[in-house]
Amino acid sequence: MRITKVSAIPIELELNEPFSIANETVETAVNVFFKLETDEGITGWGCATPDTVTSETGETVTAIFQVGFKDILIGSDPTRINLLNEIIEEKIQGNPSAKAGVNMALYDILGKKAHMPLYRLLGGYKEKIETSITIGLNPVDVMIDRAKDCVSKGFSCLKVKCGMEPDHDIEAILGIRSAVGPQVKIRIDANEGYTLEKALRVVETLEKLGADIEIFEQPTPAKYLFALKEITAQCSVPIMADETAFTLRDSLRLIKLEIADMINIKLMKIGGITNALKANVYAELAGIPVMVGCMNESMGAMVAGVHTACAVKNIIYADLDSAIDFKDDVVKGGATYKDGFVIPSERPGLGIEVDL
Ligand SMILES: [Mg+2]
Repeated sequence: MRITKVSAIPIELELNEPFSIANETVETAVNVFFKLETDEGITGWGCATPDTVTSETGETVTAIFQVGFKDILIGSDPTRINLLNEIIEEKIQGNPSAKAGVNMALYDILGKKAHMPLYRLLGGYKEKIETSITIGLNPVDVMIDRAKDCVSKGFSCLKVKCGMEPDHDIEAILGIRSAVGPQVKIRIDANEGYTLEKALRVVETLEKLGADIEIFEQPTPAKYLFALKEITAQCSVPIMADETAFTLRDSLRLIKLEIADMINIKLMKIGGITNALKANVYAELAGIPVMVGCMNESMGAMVAGVHTACAVKNIIYADLDSAIDFKDDVVKGGATYKDGFVIPSERPGLGIEVDL
């Protein structure tokens, strides 16, 4: 099989409501869809979600696709994914979300060729995974209302954004805990927003007042490796690295230096499924559990995270809720939600239909 034609289609998708975290607020998200056509009539779809975190935009992704990826892909065998990944990593620096979009399109073709859903082709460890649903930064009452609404819709794991102002954050998280009761899991994510001292004060106060936090994600700036290590050493709540765990090498360094208890791998940061699976192997061998998270990803991108998370044992956490946040996604199928779990499609490949 050979790839005969490729195209990149950027679209701007509107969110249901503005989404705020410690370092930004967004109302729309650019998702760049990649369509890879083959001489066997199989078409693979992938999607890149550029972000400030990845230092990419819709324009940079579309441009690098035309000048970098196109020549590598045209005429190549799409099932030789490890070879293509090696060539891409050698020839193209950075651009991780573009790499992720291309990589998942190759896996979509592989799954369609094999007539198997991707998560089964990759090992099929589980058929579904519980996902958190994110509560963005807002006034306290708005955050509590949103948390109650999510729980009423069947979600029993919340990821509460914090990292702006400790007193506000403590009030919001305690308010959410008392509103949703003790059974709901609460993870918090500061998106690099605290200093070491503030992070410790917030988490110690929350624990003393019974907030019962399951995971504390990226409390301090990504570049301060040893602040994160210090919190990990001092804090009773498990610490998860997200922004600190950017590339495959970052993940290796984090694990080797015992910087965090857990890592959040996002396909858009690490450059796709192939690299995510490698990072997960490092982590598993070191006894470090992994979460698969997402950016502002339409189902076209997020679905690859669902298949990856379900394929292997060591990815025990998922934060795969972004597809719910869009007004009009252009993708159908892929994954469904039930009782707080996200379930990959049993159709071949990623199992999506793209209306573009
Ligand atoms: Mg995070």
